[in-house]
Amino acid sequence: MSRRRDTVTRAMEAAQSGGRAAGYCWLEHPGGRAHCTRPPHTDRQHVDYYNGRTSPTDAAGTEWFE
Ligand SMILES: [Zn+2]
Repeated sequence: MSRRRDTVTRAMEAAQSGGRAAGYCWLEHPGGRAHCTRPPHTDRQHVDYYNGRTSPTDAAGTEWFE
């Protein structure tokens, strides 16, 4: 049994990761299989443009709000 990590914890981990250093928001998706690849932002919409796409022509991949 694992406790769900909260948004603040994941945001802190994101800030320490390479993705954040590369200029991404990099908040981890609640499911853990994507990271937000928008530039750092203050709204609640997070998008991973690289994971979750079913074809290279898809505009965006995984998208979520939190
Ligand atoms: Zn984001």
